[in-house]
Parts: sequence; C-alpha cells; structure tokens
Amino acid sequence: MTLFRRFRQVGRYGPVRVGTATDNRGREKHTAACTAPRCGFSAEYDTRSAAELAARTHRCSAV
Ligand SMILES: [Zn+2]
Repeated sequence: MTLFRRFRQVGRYGPVRVGTATDNRGREKHTAACTAPRCGFSAEYDTRSAAELAARTHRCSAV
C-alpha cells in the first residue's frame, strides 16, 4: 500500500480509507479512497470532515 505511506490519521469507513497528508506546499489534504479492487473511487477534500462524510456515504459499486 505505497499509496498510503505518506498519510497520517488513516481511518476506515467500510471499504473506504480516509487519510490526511501534507502536500509539498505544506497544506493539509484529506483524501478518501476506496480499497475495493474494481471501484477506483478516490477524491481529495479541503477538510477532514468532508472526506469522512464522502467515505461514509460512498456507495461502492464493486462490492
Ligand atoms: Zn468503492
């Protein structure tokens, strides 16, 4: 899972993981990414709560 190496505070909501990372300009980015092999959902948000909401409400088409 090299994709998640830089992430802190990784949480799980069903198949979706949410992680906080700092980009190369020092800003925090919050990413929600689905771990289901055929789903491919992933998105970035400005706030942690937005990413967690997206993770919780994600309807996985691959399960
Ligand atoms: Zn999914």
